[in-house]
Amino acid sequence: MPEGPEIWRAADNISKTIANKEITEIYFAFDELKVFEDQLVGQKVTSVTPRGKAIITEFDNGLNLYSHNQLYGKWMMSDNGEEPNTNRSLRAAIKTKGGAAYLFSASEIEMLKNDEIESHSYIKKLGPDVVHPDTTYEEVLSRYRDDNFKNRKLATLLLDQGFLSGVGNYLRSEILFCAKIDPDFRPKDCTPEQIKDLAHYSIELSRRSYITGGITTEPELVEALKREGASRKEYRHYAYNRTGNPCYKCGRKIAEMKTGGRKIYYCEHRQKSEE
Ligand SMILES: [Zn+2]
Repeated sequence: MPEGPEIWRAADNISKTIANKEITEIYFAFDELKVFEDQLVGQKVTSVTPRGKAIITEFDNGLNLYSHNQLYGKWMMSDNGEEPNTNRSLRAAIKTKGGAAYLFSASEIEMLKNDEIESHSYIKKLGPDVVHPDTTYEEVLSRYRDDNFKNRKLATLLLDQGFLSGVGNYLRSEILFCAKIDPDFRPKDCTPEQIKDLAHYSIELSRRSYITGGITTEPELVEALKREGASRKEYRHYAYNRTGNPCYKCGRKIAEMKTGGRKIYYCEHRQKSEE
């Protein structure tokens, strides 16, 4: 499933393609949304905003398309008026003279009025979005210090969108790696310095990944590895999906374990305390 950085890039892409252009045609596959088709022709998309793993596409008549892609949904763009060639089933299409946005295979699509967004069952539970430019370090830090979260294992807490939204499976491994934290730790097991590092890297790695298109390693390391002929899979992350490969910080092997049904990757030397 895409994580915050990927959702933000998808929203940017939709915005670039259709925002502030008059809508010439709009299509919804679901019967309950058909009623909105006529209402939206002639309107414009005014903003496209990620909310956790959902996207809110705002129209200038006070309506907002809520879409959550779950595992299989995908937004695809077209600049030339031709529908993307795919076997996926079309759920929604927003066409303008300057380009069109198509939503395929998504399972959750709803139309919300402006005042219904914040009370939406998914949106109201979201924690601060780590990619959002308005989310501050202090805000993220206060989540890690919050009594409601401090007894939960970080490996599972970091996947909870109600804790911090936008963090998913790869960011979880990368944040814990950079902060040098044992994935089995709870916030209450961490030193105050470690908590600060967690807050710092939660923001830093998420925003870096948004800017770089999914790369969490620092630019200097990426450049050095590229010069050695490393593939994207090799230089993209510090720990995620690198089991058995040497750690870029200490040279020992990256390990993996399963937690919450999903693999987490870590450096035993950096992150596990010596017994
Ligand atoms: Zn290491």
